[in-house]
Amino acid sequence: MTTNSIAAFHKAIQANETSCTESTMSFIQKIEAKKHLNAYIEVFEKEALERASFLDNKKRNKEKLGKLFGVAIGVKDNICIKDHKLSASSNMLKGFESIYSATVIERLLAEDAIILGRLNCDEFAMGSSNETSAYGKVLNAIDENRTPGGSSGGSAVAVQAGLCHVSLGSDTGGSIRQPASYCGVVGLKPTYGSVSRYGLIAFASSFDQIGPFANNVADAALVLETIAGKDKNDATSIQNEVDSFSLKPLKKQKIAYFKQAIENDSIHKEVKASFENLKTRLEAEGNIVEAIDFPYLDYLIPTYYVLSTAEASSNLSRYDGVHYGYRSPNAKNMEEVYTKSRSEGFGKEVKNRIMLGTFVLSAGYYDAYYTKAQQVRRILKNKINDLYSNFDFILSPTAPNPAFKFGEKSEDPVAMYLEDIYTVLANLVGNPAISLPLYKTKEGLPIGMQLMANDQEEEKLLSFAQQLEM
Ligand code: GLN
Repeated sequence: MTTNSIAAFHKAIQANETSCTESTMSFIQKIEAKKHLNAYIEVFEKEALERASFLDNKKRNKEKLGKLFGVAIGVKDNICIKDHKLSASSNMLKGFESIYSATVIERLLAEDAIILGRLNCDEFAMGSSNETSAYGKVLNAIDENRTPGGSSGGSAVAVQAGLCHVSLGSDTGGSIRQPASYCGVVGLKPTYGSVSRYGLIAFASSFDQIGPFANNVADAALVLETIAGKDKNDATSIQNEVDSFSLKPLKKQKIAYFKQAIENDSIHKEVKASFENLKTRLEAEGNIVEAIDFPYLDYLIPTYYVLSTAEASSNLSRYDGVHYGYRSPNAKNMEEVYTKSRSEGFGKEVKNRIMLGTFVLSAGYYDAYYTKAQQVRRILKNKINDLYSNFDFILSPTAPNPAFKFGEKSEDPVAMYLEDIYTVLANLVGNPAISLPLYKTKEGLPIGMQLMANDQEEEKLLSFAQQLEM
């Protein structure tokens, strides 16, 4: 049990060494002291303290306490919280207020959690560096000249810098795992459908999943078991309820890795060395680690960017200056309401994606791009399914590089997109995957390792992840 774990906090609460009010107060002070990191867009100071005092009373009255009692949670600014602003870090939605809460928020609150505030992210969750937010970039607390990764950069930094116990992010192509890797925290993308998307601003609906950032695997497991399970408001959610995970040691696991992913010139030397080190360790601990030929690596990024931008162009068509959100004051007629509101409201990266998505869906190119990418997605799913008949997990680094400097990749979208090379597969096939902060470069930058498992094998994945964390 680490000192900053939820278990340690609950132990201190039980021993009356701290209270929800004291803990919440100390987070709020820390957020203020680290304001320059720009992780929070808004802190719900008054509401969080009122809730903390309500929870302290609950304990005083000896009522039954929820499993996230007093746990302070930061929430990515693309998840609805009733009566609070919600913007996906975009000017398009500045001023918008949500009239309901996402299912995940309802479930956290039902277990006595405290929502601390909204966390900065790339605009509409598109990006790998948190540089595209309308609220400005988020700084990586380990080296403030470097990006925290994206798109859930604020969620990663909030945990990294001790500005909450745990946070929520969303992962469409790696936006939980890649920033977790850059910031040295645990980040988990659940199986597609495990966690309800009701109340999550849609980016690419067949990829999006909400998941936790945490200081350790046990905390991530606790959050996931709280938010996961069937939800009548999301037709793609799994059919079963999720009660609680029991994490237990697993011996002699069979682990695959892709030869092409490691024997590759574009992977950072120290990331590669860390991977080799982990492989040796896993073998020494009695597991089997095998290189698999995977000739599809080069297709992952193109397939992901064709399909995710297609879905994004469709999802983002609702921001039209009429229904809600930004409406251009410069529009002189009906048509200009649409064109000017969208041109002025969206940032550059979002416009890139809408253009790309509209192109791959257009009549003349639909079959060549969209249909083709769907076919590749099916081949990948079949190939990965076959693999699980022989293996328990797929292992890789989370990202090919440690955190890069601001501006380093912003002029080169392809270089930026390539940071997702190891993460997009889990979204393309729907598998759960976790990034673990297992290594550091000589300079002290975190290096995450990613474990991926078959659909709905979260308990097994978390069990093994916890062993690796030791
Ligand atoms: N970096 C990826 C992208 O820009 C992933 C985004 C995400 O997972 N939300 O699309």
